[in-house]
Amino acid sequence: MFNYVKNFIVVFLFTFAFISNSSLVSAEKNHPQNATTVDHLILGGTIVTMDPVNSIIEEGGVAIKQGRIIAIGSRTEIKNLYNSNNIIDATDKVILPGLINGHAHTAMALFRGLADDLELQNWLTNYIFPAEARNVNEDFVRIGTRLGLAEMIKGGTTTFADMYYFEDAVAEETAKAGVRGVLGQGVMDFPAPDGKTFDEGMQIAEKYIEKWQGHDLIVPAIAPHSPYIVSKDHLIAVSELSKQTGAPILIHVSETKQEVERIEKEHGASPVTYLKNIGFLNNQVIIAHMVFPKAEEIDILKNSGAGVVHNPHSNMKLASGIAPVPEMLLADIPVGLGTDSAASNNDLNIWDEMDMAAKLHKVATGDPKAVTAKEALEMATIRGARALHLERDIGSLEVGKKADLIILDMDALHQTPCYNIYSNLVYATKASDVNTVVINGVVVMRDHTLLTLNEETIKEQARSYRDIVKKSLEKPSEK
Ligand SMILES: [Zn+2]
Repeated sequence: MFNYVKNFIVVFLFTFAFISNSSLVSAEKNHPQNATTVDHLILGGTIVTMDPVNSIIEEGGVAIKQGRIIAIGSRTEIKNLYNSNNIIDATDKVILPGLINGHAHTAMALFRGLADDLELQNWLTNYIFPAEARNVNEDFVRIGTRLGLAEMIKGGTTTFADMYYFEDAVAEETAKAGVRGVLGQGVMDFPAPDGKTFDEGMQIAEKYIEKWQGHDLIVPAIAPHSPYIVSKDHLIAVSELSKQTGAPILIHVSETKQEVERIEKEHGASPVTYLKNIGFLNNQVIIAHMVFPKAEEIDILKNSGAGVVHNPHSNMKLASGIAPVPEMLLADIPVGLGTDSAASNNDLNIWDEMDMAAKLHKVATGDPKAVTAKEALEMATIRGARALHLERDIGSLEVGKKADLIILDMDALHQTPCYNIYSNLVYATKASDVNTVVINGVVVMRDHTLLTLNEETIKEQARSYRDIVKKSLEKPSEK
């Protein structure tokens, strides 16, 4: 079935490419003798590879075949060695690895702006949990996920990590849209919209993992909410399932001071130490937030191999605190960037997270070098890929890696002039500068137009959900 969907998308895209008059589809035909035919050629533009030596190729070229980058070099070299019926002219543009959103609850895009300016516990227990209990079903998740996917593609995000409910529906929508995802089925100790008990949640998770393992775009994962909402025995059960199946674990840890105090009181250790003590931390785990690790816990994190995802906007908006990102970078912990949900951000824009990560830690430390522009870009690309344990396949533009890349317009006023490409990318680029998005070798947006999702239908459906959610909160509390 998935192959059918995939083939359909590929046929659709190829048809579209053939009939399109897009300025990016060049009429340039190059059929040098003995040239290898590839699926796509990207010619021209500046390639910011984010490879281990930070290569930047002016007037570059990329050859893509069967979803992977098979060659990267100068425009002339690539043009002489390869030909294709699908040439994308990237002259005067920038080619960058697709951005990675390491922490999201995508379907919550339908709760964007529902309740703002509140601290985490109040926001969660009085607004988000009741809104979820009364509204979240499979249909809500599908429509919310489509809204989030459309926003992420338009802003250049090619991979995201998601923790929510009905994750099978999230995976179906994500695969249909042609986006890469590490998608975690949520499990908790209180009734969730899908699993009414922890055990039921685990059964859903097991089936879900089995169904999606080995998929080209989807990495099925399991997502226990946090150490304060999932008990010790249940965390151990999650860890066992992860070890048996190889599925990664997505979890919120050390997000607020109150959480740290509660875990210390209940388990005699702060969250990172507690998770280490119960054998939970390893290189399959991806931790969101990590705002309050103790100094010695940075070493524990480093030695565990766990990934960490920094969510500067969410942490600021909920007044949670400032994660010690410079210290974690110094320890070479894989730290990525995430938006968290659009209910606590309020968008899914990784450009904003980069800009904010670079600035927040300057003001917090009084050191303008605390997080540099290049480090912020690394967190959104190659370091973010390490945080999700996917660095072998994504995060940089290198031969053999998956062809997940974005092409940016660089002619806007806010991009002019450009002295340093990292500076422009982190401090000046807007999501709306993203012109073209390629994921797994498939073009999912060309010339700012989504090819796998219908933007107008998505907006209409999302607006109709606003009224449903509003009405649901007018009902008296069920407590
Ligand atoms: Zn979250």
